[in-house]
Amino acid sequence: MTRGMLTLLKQSLKSVIPESYRKTLRRWGTQAVHFGWSRHCPVCNCRASSFRPHGDPPEPDAVCHVCLSKAPHRLAGLFFRNFADKLFQRNETCVHVAPEPELSRQLRRQCHVAGMNYRVGGFGTNYAEFFDLTNLSLPNQSVSLFYCCHVLNALIEDRKAISEIFRVLKPEGVAVIQVPAFCTEPTTVEALESEDERIQKFHDPAIYRCYTDADYRSRLQAAGFHVEVFDAASFPEDERIRMGLHGEVLHIGFRNAEHPVAAALRALRQ
Ligand SMILES: [Zn+2]
Repeated sequence: MTRGMLTLLKQSLKSVIPESYRKTLRRWGTQAVHFGWSRHCPVCNCRASSFRPHGDPPEPDAVCHVCLSKAPHRLAGLFFRNFADKLFQRNETCVHVAPEPELSRQLRRQCHVAGMNYRVGGFGTNYAEFFDLTNLSLPNQSVSLFYCCHVLNALIEDRKAISEIFRVLKPEGVAVIQVPAFCTEPTTVEALESEDERIQKFHDPAIYRCYTDADYRSRLQAAGFHVEVFDAASFPEDERIRMGLHGEVLHIGFRNAEHPVAAALRALRQ
């Protein structure tokens, strides 16, 4: 078949297949092309021969071909799957701020199965709801499961945002508040003064800080959270490779230190 005939065939199919079906077909096609047994994405649940490289210089085994999740999303996806029975509860509310499409699909599905209310939003008009993390339009103690990924490091007032998340969380709630890989300097590196400073330190004008692990924990604890971690390092090496996990750590805040998920995370570390 010539290139011209292929283009014509694609255009004909496009005109008769609705967009929603085309997305599914594209997904199936991608799954088929990259199918294999050596990799498993815990977000979209696909099996693949590899993850694709990403970044400059390219990091190998970085992005899922099918759902485009990166390693931090896959660790979060794995957490939501492993503790699903304790996190997703009928008639409770899950809030996902600044949603990543692939994790949003997973959380929406898990909430639907459990009969839980899934609310999604962010700072801007592109979202279903407007959520300013420093001034959440949610009642006190109304949220059972809260998730945001890589947002706090892009806020000037991160402590205010952490306090807001604590305020809206129910006494038995769980807040998964993910930040990027940790700084290896003795203390958190911040650039609050100017865009130039942020570009110089982080190569990104939207990033205000890179936390150390200890400082990030202390900022969460100062708001009242009991903090546990879900650490990629707690998995055997072959499992980490299979899921394309590197050195990610997920910090999870609880109001109740005896929450069953907190207890399970402590047990995992032992
Ligand atoms: Zn995936």
